[in-house]
Amino acid sequence: MSMFQEEFVATSAAVRVRFGAGARHAVGEEMDALGLGRALVLSTPQQAATAEEFAARLGARAAGTFAGAVMHTPVTVSDEATAIVRSLGADCVVSVGGGSTIGLGKAIALRTDLPQIVVPTTYAGSEATPILGQTEGGRKTTITSAKVQPEVILYDPDLVTTLPAAMTVTSAFNAMAHAAEGLYARNRSPLSTLMALEGLRAFKDGLPRVLADPADVRARGETLYGAWLCGTVLGQVGMALHHKLCHTLGGSFGLPHAETHAIILPHAIAYNEAAVPDLLAPVADIFGAKTAGRALHDFAIASGAPLALRDLGLDEPDLDRAAELATQNPYWNPRPVERAALRHLLQAAWAGRAPAA
Ligand code: NAD
Repeated sequence: MSMFQEEFVATSAAVRVRFGAGARHAVGEEMDALGLGRALVLSTPQQAATAEEFAARLGARAAGTFAGAVMHTPVTVSDEATAIVRSLGADCVVSVGGGSTIGLGKAIALRTDLPQIVVPTTYAGSEATPILGQTEGGRKTTITSAKVQPEVILYDPDLVTTLPAAMTVTSAFNAMAHAAEGLYARNRSPLSTLMALEGLRAFKDGLPRVLADPADVRARGETLYGAWLCGTVLGQVGMALHHKLCHTLGGSFGLPHAETHAIILPHAIAYNEAAVPDLLAPVADIFGAKTAGRALHDFAIASGAPLALRDLGLDEPDLDRAAELATQNPYWNPRPVERAALRHLLQAAWAGRAPAA
């Protein structure tokens, strides 16, 4: 199938990507290339030892470490880390971790304009986007700014081998969601579509091999390659119903980010497939199923992904309010977002049933 579009506008960020086992050791080299001298290495508390290893390898070029990154990028933590960056005289940040750590690096860049060298250890894709979600007083706001787009990404499959199996699966679905919604985005381009399809293919081929042997560096590499492609799609095009549902369920009901993505994806895609079957047909082809929704559901089962919102602790009576909230201020979507149809979708996702289409 051709990706030709009669009209499009395509914008790509100026990002340097270095990919391969051992790429993590190139932080110093990349700092030299950018004329940088002192890095603050960021991580979560859980990955503090990894951050220390990076600092040790950097030697005198490490200003220090800050292992205080947490979920949802609270501004209090970002302000604290920014004060540390300033007091240490660091001239760049090195973010080692998943979306939470990368979010902290972006928040520091927003406040200081310092360059970011990012070493992702999950598939979530934040490293490839100019998007920052922050929380203050329980409220989440999202900004899009070239200031927060990381300058250098070092993708090293060795670092992802430690990602636990359950997170490997949900993080992969988080990435695949960006690609799947990218296929029908209003501002898609032939480039974003090519990346989305190749990203999905990389997960289809790589994820089963990673799950069979989590230490298989080649398979980890293929899935990380998929994460780069899917994250780059997220950085280039707008998201729709799937992301709106996930943000509603996460924001108003406290459901966990990656698990919610994994459960909702087949249902949101099936919902939109009714409106844009041609745009989603390649997904069914890649996964070898009749429809894209069914394909993703079958892949979720085969991967051992969570399937039911009820298993995340959502109560059935909350589904009415979730459907109501998800129809308020809807994101653009290829199919009109109707409350009754959404309620139906949510019921299936709550019970863990196959999507309707
Ligand atoms: P995360 O960064 O919150 O990581 C979850 C846990 O796993 C942490 O304890 C982390 O230290 C640990 N971990 C990460 N990689 C590991 C590894 N290889 N081995 C062992 N442990 C590891 O999880 P995430 O799903 O990557 O990020 C979620 C956050 O990122 C959310 O806040 C989400 O909103 C945000 N996000 C933002 C964007 C964007 O473009 N702005 C894109 C995707 C996700």
